[in-house]
Amino acid sequence: MVIAVDFDGTIVEHEYPKIGRPLPFAFEVLRKLQQEENHTLILWTMREGKLLQEAIDYCEKNGVRFFAHNKNYPEEKLQEGDPRKLSVDLFIDDRNIGGLPDWGIIYQLIKYRRSSPRNLDMMDSDKGREKRKNLFIRLGEAWEKARGYRY
Ligand SMILES: [Mg+2]
Repeated sequence: MVIAVDFDGTIVEHEYPKIGRPLPFAFEVLRKLQQEENHTLILWTMREGKLLQEAIDYCEKNGVRFFAHNKNYPEEKLQEGDPRKLSVDLFIDDRNIGGLPDWGIIYQLIKYRRSSPRNLDMMDSDKGREKRKNLFIRLGEAWEKARGYRY
C-alpha cells in the first residue's frame, strides 16, 4: 500500500517549528512497514523548505527514508488545477477522527488490514472461535476414536 504519514504530532510530539521527541515506536513501526511489509511511505506535512528538510533528515537519521515528500512521487510537479490531495491508500495523521492510535495499534491495523482498533478486538474473538472449533474437532476425533475402539 501507499501510506501518507504526517510528521508533527504523528511521528514526533508536536513542537513545530522545532522537532519534538519521537512518539513511542513511531520509527520502529515505520521501518517495519517499509522493510518487512513493503509499503511505500510518503511524508505528508505542512512543513516546507528548511523545516521540511529538517524533518526529512531527522527521519533518515532514524532509519526511515520516504519515497516522496508532500508529493505522490519525487518528480511530480503540481500544475495549476491539479488536486493537492495525495493519491494514497491510507493516511496516518494526528488529525484523524478519533485521534492517533498508539503506533503498536497502527502497525496491527495495517498488518492485519483492519479499519479500527475495535476490529482488532474482533480478531481476538475470531481466535476464540478458532479455539472452540478446535475443541469440537478434538471432541470429534475423540468420538471417532471411541467408535473405532468399540468396533
Ligand atoms: Mg500533525
